[in-house]
Formats: sequence, structure tokens, C-alpha cells
Amino acid sequence: MKTVILTSDAGFDHRVPPPHIETPARLRGVLDAMADTPSLSGMERIQARPATREEVGRMHTSAHLDAVFNGEPASHEAFHGFDFDTYMCRGSLNAALRGAGAAVQAVDMIMAGEAEAAFCATRPPGHHAERNRPMGFCLFNNIGVAAMHALDHYGLSRVAIIDIDVHHGNGSQDLAESEPRVMFASIHESPLYPGTGMEDETGLNGNVVNVTVAAGCGGDAWLARLETDLLPRVEAFAPEFVFVSAGFDGHRADPLGGLLLDEGDYIRAAERLCDLARKSASSRLVCCLEGGYDIGALGRSAAAFTETLSRGQGSHSAVL
Ligand SMILES: [Zn+2]
Repeated sequence: MKTVILTSDAGFDHRVPPPHIETPARLRGVLDAMADTPSLSGMERIQARPATREEVGRMHTSAHLDAVFNGEPASHEAFHGFDFDTYMCRGSLNAALRGAGAAVQAVDMIMAGEAEAAFCATRPPGHHAERNRPMGFCLFNNIGVAAMHALDHYGLSRVAIIDIDVHHGNGSQDLAESEPRVMFASIHESPLYPGTGMEDETGLNGNVVNVTVAAGCGGDAWLARLETDLLPRVEAFAPEFVFVSAGFDGHRADPLGGLLLDEGDYIRAAERLCDLARKSASSRLVCCLEGGYDIGALGRSAAAFTETLSRGQGSHSAVL
């Protein structure tokens, strides 16, 4: 599929107090790995525009917006904390707005026919940010902002958010629980932070799908659950646009997760997601970077995943 990569150098200005692991080095690791991937190295890295307050406000409450827009500390050395692991420094607001803006801009490019798939390599991540609360390293829910942009700006009727991060995307589920035009479908390790995402959480008329796997789950079993228990439910929802929270902390090298995935498993997942987008959503596919905390594994996984999007041929569609 014709694939574009969006990023923002503002992501390097969002600092966190040591020994926090959601660091600027993560973004550098992803971009360096993409530069080292021959098929991606020549592709333009599009610098994202910031999302507007109106765009972010489709996902988040006014109180949430006020907290983040006014959350930067006065001093360049200081941090403002929303909880024990979610911080802002001077520069964080611009990084967060461009993270959301990348996802919105990706929707615009795809709806304009300029691309079919997009990978947004930005930080901070987004999927733990609820409608009214920054949380879990996340200030704005980038994928939720983009999903609402597709619905409210372009008038689509149904969109799906598929979350393959090792953690449950509680913030995106929070959106689906009050927005029936959104399906949220997550495969994640349980029990694990943030403790939500049980399989009996089904949202509004089944628009929430949670598939849980235990620590120690390997790639074959993880992909089998994705193929059998998650993707068919999304396909039945008939989304007009597919969004993917692409976290790579399910990698066996990751310090936060207990799964045993590797780069090859993320390639296979990307193939299935391409197939779904092509089949159900006119090849409209926006993927946003979420977690991934072993820099080497994160970079290799994100680059392999994005290269698979750009090849655009899933194992199933290749024979069509
Ligand atoms: Zn995660």
C-alpha cells in the first residue's frame, strides 16, 4: 500500500524525569532503524502539524484540555506530574499536539487519496489517556483524536481502533464506551498495567472487544488469538477506516511486558492488518506508535512493521 511516515522533532523535546523509560531515545531508535531499512530510507519523513484545540477536543473534555494546555512548568528544569508516571516539561505541549496532529494529518492524507497507509512515529504515546484524564505516559489519546476526526470531519459512520500494545488501551476503550461509531479491539497481556481490559468488558452493543493473553505467550499463540478472536469481530463491524495502536512492548526483549513476540510476529500482524484494511476499509489504515521500551527491539519492530505496510501485501491478499 502507498505508505507515508509522519513524525515530529518536537518529540525529542518531551523529557521525563529519570529513571523514566519513555524517553526521547525511543523516538531516535525508531527513526534510526527506519533509516537503516533500505525500502524505508528514501521515504520522506513528514513533519506533523500540531492538532488544533478543536481537533483534540473531539476526544477530550474541556477540563482535560485545560490541564494539558496549562500544564507546562514555569522552569525549564521542572516537571509537572499528573500521576506517578505521566509528566510534562517545557516543550511537552507542542510534542503532544504534534503527536495528535500527525494522526489527524495522516487521516487527511488518506482521505485525500495521497496515501493508503500511514505510520506515525511520535511520542509521547496516547492509548492510556482517557477522555478526561492524562495517564500512563500519555497526554492526548492520539489514535482517539484521529478516529474522531475521521468520523466528525469526514462524516464516516464507523471506524475501528485495533490495539496490539502489550498493555490494554484503557483510554481508547473509554472513547468507545461513549461513542458507538467506534469499535475498540485490543489484544493485550493480562494481568498487567493498567488492570483493565477484561474479556467481559464489551462496551455498547459489543463495540469493545478485549482478548487477553498471559505472560509467556509466544508469537504463534498471540497471532492465533488475533486471527481467530479479534480480527473477525472487527471485520463484522465493517469499519470504513482502520486505526492501529502500534505498541511493540510485547517483544520478548521488552522490560515492561511478559510476552515472547519478535519482529517476525509484528510483520505477520501487519500483514493481517493490511488485509483487513483492504478488505473492509478501502485500504484506509493509520498506525500510531504506542509503547516499546527496549530501544533496539522497538526500532527493529517498528521498522519491520512499517516496511510491511509499504509492501502492502498480506499473506492472504498476495494470492488474490
Ligand atoms: Zn504499552
